[in-house]
Amino acid sequence: MSLLLDVKGLTKRYGGLTANAEMTFDVNEGEIVGIIGPNGAGKSTLFDLITGFQPPDAGRVLLDGRDITGLRPDRISRLGVARTFQKLKPFPDLTVTENVIVGALARTSDMKTARDQALESLAFVDLLEKRNHFARELSTGQRKRLELARGLAMSPRLILMDEVTGGVDQRTIAGLIELVLELKHRGLTIVTIEHNMQVIMRLADRILALHAGRRIAFGAPEQVRSEPAVVDAYLGTIDDAA
Ligand code: ADP
Ligand code: MG
Repeated sequence: MSLLLDVKGLTKRYGGLTANAEMTFDVNEGEIVGIIGPNGAGKSTLFDLITGFQPPDAGRVLLDGRDITGLRPDRISRLGVARTFQKLKPFPDLTVTENVIVGALARTSDMKTARDQALESLAFVDLLEKRNHFARELSTGQRKRLELARGLAMSPRLILMDEVTGGVDQRTIAGLIELVLELKHRGLTIVTIEHNMQVIMRLADRILALHAGRRIAFGAPEQVRSEPAVVDAYLGTIDDAA
């Protein structure tokens, strides 16, 4: 197994609040790493730091051994790192296809290639029949899939997914799990922030658990789930919410 993403000591402060404190973890090629933690634990901030949306105060991000710390988001996406957002922000008055083309254009300037990649991604997430609808017409579950298609249209080698199953119904969740497993099967490396404990146990090869900006566990799912710090910190609240 070769190391693809190596995160060392990432730290981010917002005023007096430490959103990430010396966060360290790694992701092997072809692996699914799940990230859990209650609201405000620092999960989305960690993605901001890895993908260049926020500069870290300290620490390093290595992609395939190359230091990408502090690079701009567009540079990082061109290196093959895609990211989906927890707070969805599609362009409401663009069509579904146009929204995904915008994603594809992050990596290619050829319009035909971008369009082909967009349609291929939409087919993969089973949203092709909505391709000519405006993004604002989609349900939450469909918008989650649109967001995933936008990320996939960048032809990434690594995708960071922020609560892809959040706020969608149980049936839709089952479909999303299958999609993520199929992506892994195709060789994509995945880091997924996930609120639903059943989903994470189903998907993850390893789990990173955060609490109040700190790493409290990192390892095999069964091991992390039974870690006293994890149980104490929030396991009950996560199961309640799921
Ligand atoms: P999570 O995704 O685990 O719910 P976040 O990473 O979104 O947590 O937030 C971690 C903490 O950092 C929260 O207290 C949040 O209010 C704070 N925070 C996140 N982004 C910002 C920002 N841009 N400015 C100020 N505070 C922020
Ligand atoms: Mg978040």
